[in-house]
Amino acid sequence: MPDTEIAKQAIASGPVVRPVSVLLIYPSTTDVALANLGFQRVYGLLNRLNGVVCDRYSLPDDWTPMTQALKPEATRSHDAGRMPMDFDLIAFSISFEPDYLNAVAILDYFGIPLDRRERGSKYPLIVAGGSALFINPEPLADIFDVGFIGEAEGMIEPFFDLYTQTDWRDPRELLEEAARLPGIYIPQFYTPEYTDDVQTALTPEAGVPERIPRHWVAEGDAALCTHSELHGETTAFRDMALMEVTRGCIWACRFCTAGFIYRPPREPDLDQTYESLERALAAQNQNASTIGLVGPSVTDHPQLLSLARRIVAEGKMLSFSSLRMETLTDELVDLILQSGQKTVTVAVDAPSERMRDVINKSASDDFVIDKCRFLTKKGVLHLKIYSIIGLPAEEDEDIDRFIELVKNVQKVYVEECSRRGNIGTVTIGVSPLVPKPGTPFQWHPMEAVSSLKKKFQKLRKALGPLPNLHLSFGSPNEAYLQTYLSRGDRRALSFFEAFLKNGRDEKRALQGAVPHPDRFTYRQYQRDDFLPWDIVDHGYFPKFLWQDYQRGLRAKHTPVCDTATCKICGIC
Ligand code: SF4
Repeated sequence: MPDTEIAKQAIASGPVVRPVSVLLIYPSTTDVALANLGFQRVYGLLNRLNGVVCDRYSLPDDWTPMTQALKPEATRSHDAGRMPMDFDLIAFSISFEPDYLNAVAILDYFGIPLDRRERGSKYPLIVAGGSALFINPEPLADIFDVGFIGEAEGMIEPFFDLYTQTDWRDPRELLEEAARLPGIYIPQFYTPEYTDDVQTALTPEAGVPERIPRHWVAEGDAALCTHSELHGETTAFRDMALMEVTRGCIWACRFCTAGFIYRPPREPDLDQTYESLERALAAQNQNASTIGLVGPSVTDHPQLLSLARRIVAEGKMLSFSSLRMETLTDELVDLILQSGQKTVTVAVDAPSERMRDVINKSASDDFVIDKCRFLTKKGVLHLKIYSIIGLPAEEDEDIDRFIELVKNVQKVYVEECSRRGNIGTVTIGVSPLVPKPGTPFQWHPMEAVSSLKKKFQKLRKALGPLPNLHLSFGSPNEAYLQTYLSRGDRRALSFFEAFLKNGRDEKRALQGAVPHPDRFTYRQYQRDDFLPWDIVDHGYFPKFLWQDYQRGLRAKHTPVCDTATCKICGIC
């Protein structure tokens, strides 16, 4: 159990009648689990609750997706070495849809039936949370017993109070009561309805909410103090500690879940978080030579510069999860360089100026080229340019514009590098759009895999021969799977079952899934269509997202978030 300052703050609750043991699982390898701040946060929160003992599990480092079975020893929990069936609850923290495949594989390794209707009282309660789940819980809704919709702080406490303050023999006895708690979704109380194979409703039983309001932490709440809790366990994270800098994002890019499902944007007190992190490190007799600053756009935080100065003055390195190019000032770049970072990513996010208008990002090609010249002049060794393709209303001409932009960036980069006398690499990263639930693009179909492949070929042909340039493309097939898993409904259970039965062949499982996954990935939803993820109520005005989608199709902008004055979307 971590020993941080906030660990010492007793959580106010009633007397414990029935202690609860929880196995918290991150469905990937341990290195990946420790890099996930959400997982670490929930581990710390659960261990601070009266009457709850939380252990953890992630897959062994030598695990591969083709691993068909694990030895019993490899399924033991990491802290106390207990077997999975010894726990009252198994809780999955899931941030990325592709990890659903690992989650179902873990249940299989543990010998726990996938379908919740086949699990009796001898099995632990299976619960799940994390951003992938609260974007759309339905693809896993026949697998887990309880879903947590929203941010953990303030949501998990009432749920676990219910379990620790009531006497029970089977945790399923309390589900009816749990269904009335904030953010708690119990799928068994909701029945899907279909017309011609298309879901048209999700009907609640009497006494449970029609939709589940997403839970979030208020600005200024002391709970907005998130940093890594476990240190020094793996090679990758031996020397790095992570802290949350921003929750949510002001920029409202229409493809991006972070800008929508974490609204309103909030700014934790960075000094308080950093000091809490330092105490946590000291309590574990650990040190971190690099501080990873985590958030969708960390440079938006007004305290960021002073924190960065402090960290660099202490002789530590900085690592940024994201840097918005508009916010890269002279001083910030100096601090980045002083801290030893050699690569800066410039996320243009869309291939052309017109497409940047479609996604609600106003950055001209000239601005991007100037920014790249500025960074190279300052001494940044490597640049990364990142874009999405397959955006709504995208045409071949937009890809041509991108090729031109990259050629110009490469030219100024080589010019400036020649002047300063050393040269690195410009990496061009391009990923297909996954139109995600909860964003204005949720109605839009994914671009066909074959069409995306042609666009990548065109980029490779035009840009491949350029010197000092490296191309890195996301896989259209993986984007297809991700789109299916993020936009699917409960019938995805048959896909997961086929995946487990056929020896982990996701392609074959997709081909056999009913309805065919094309029905979810390539479907153009209309304004009044029922969406499988409508069960989640993010708090928007009813038509806000649709209107924003329409503005995007017309390449029109929506103002960025200003929580002091803005009332546009209905959340503030
Ligand atoms: S009301 Fe305005 S500031 Fe608040 S979350 Fe919505 S867009 Fe952002």
